[in-house]
Amino acid sequence: MRAAGALRRAPGGGGPLWGGTSVVGGVEPERGGFGSVVALDLRRLDGLLEVDAESQTATLQAGLRGPEAEELLAGRGFTLGHFPQSFEHASIGGFAATRSSGQASAGYGRFDGMVVRLRVATPSGELDLGRAPASAAGPDLRQLFLGSEGALGIITEVTVRVHPKPREVEAEAWSFPDFATGTKALRLLAQDGALPTVARLSDEAETMINLATARDVGGGEQSGGCLLITRYEGGRIAVRERTRELLAEAGGASLGAGPAEKWDHGRYHGPYLRDALLDVNALVETLETASTWSRLEETRNAVRDSLTESLQAQGTAPLVMCHISHVYPTGASLYFTVACGRGEDPVAQWHEAKRAAGDAISRSGATITHHHAVGLDHREWLTDEIGELGVAVLRAVKSTVDPSGVLNPGKLIP
Ligand SMILES: Cc1cc2nc3c(=O)[nH]c(=O)nc-3n(C[C@H](O)[C@H](O)[C@H](O)COP(=O)(O)OP(=O)(O)OC[C@H]3O[C@@H](n4cnc5c(N)ncnc54)[C@H](O)[C@@H]3O)c2cc1C
Repeated sequence: MRAAGALRRAPGGGGPLWGGTSVVGGVEPERGGFGSVVALDLRRLDGLLEVDAESQTATLQAGLRGPEAEELLAGRGFTLGHFPQSFEHASIGGFAATRSSGQASAGYGRFDGMVVRLRVATPSGELDLGRAPASAAGPDLRQLFLGSEGALGIITEVTVRVHPKPREVEAEAWSFPDFATGTKALRLLAQDGALPTVARLSDEAETMINLATARDVGGGEQSGGCLLITRYEGGRIAVRERTRELLAEAGGASLGAGPAEKWDHGRYHGPYLRDALLDVNALVETLETASTWSRLEETRNAVRDSLTESLQAQGTAPLVMCHISHVYPTGASLYFTVACGRGEDPVAQWHEAKRAAGDAISRSGATITHHHAVGLDHREWLTDEIGELGVAVLRAVKSTVDPSGVLNPGKLIP
């Protein structure tokens, strides 16, 4: 199990550490054969260096945390629109280094899609990549460093696309008879181009838990089915009527704003309960993946079944919940929340269940991670995903930019 804050307890690390919210062991202090571990504290890289209001870009230093970056941008009338659940603690450099995806990705996109330029310090020298909005000057090297998890260099600043801070925000919740119908509705929105800023569909089990607390805010008549949260900001309000039309045609029924507003108010709270739950013998963990629309159901079933079988065999039958919150014209992410009784050794208990789920994800042809990154925990499945030659390419790049292998040893590259 990984926890936000692990970084601050660590005696060091072979890479940058500031946010420390990695949930895949990205900031574990591995020595990698060296005598000691060095941690780079990026907190003083905390500037908004430039805003180009005409091009709608901003240059941010890597040590800014989510709220600090948003506050600085708000002072200039802009927002980045990147709100992962770890927003309060995670940093701009961390978002870039892990290819993070926020809860408003339907409207603003993933972090790697926002980056137009980045500067990276490596032991072999500095790279400054991305001088135009699009380019045919060979492969896009920015993509090598986005997702490089501190193993190829230290991202010191990024220039990102920003948006005028929205003056209007509207929210609406919908109910679908089942997850398959709701999933199809999201596919239609993504393929039609009528996506709201936030689109988050819970399966029946997650809906059951959500609605238990949503009754007092308008979800009262709803029982069973699946809950979809939608939220529209700024320019996305213009597509709202088309979105509503498609959702209704696809079998959705509006529940009004209440449950969507309730979700918004509590969106960063859930993870803080984890340790308290462990204290009362309940284990709650999460994992995620992504697949194409045509294989999404198969992947979901495979992951749910593998988690259920593994935890049942350990004597702790789980409740496995799932939601979709990042959608694309060609597919979507699946985010699983698993709740079960705490075994004698909860770390080993989850490790075994996660291994079963990782194998199921890999067999089903989905990605081992849609946004949590590789770190230590997903490394063993990376070869399956990119092949031996793909791993060799990563190793070759590392040996060029980091010939002594000092950067975040043991992470990302198998
Ligand atoms: C409760 C919780 C909720 C989460 N929700 C989401 C979510 O909604 N969406 C999402 O995408 N992720 C989520 N995460 C995962 C995590 O927050 C992201 O991976 C985030 O991008 C990490 O940022 P950080 O600044 O904390 O990075 P860290 O955890 O400090 O580092 C992560 C990795 O990036 C490297 N790194 C960090 N900074 C730099 C830099 N400047 N240059 C080079 N490498 C660097 C580190 O070496 C490490 O390998 C969540 C995590 C938690 C604990």
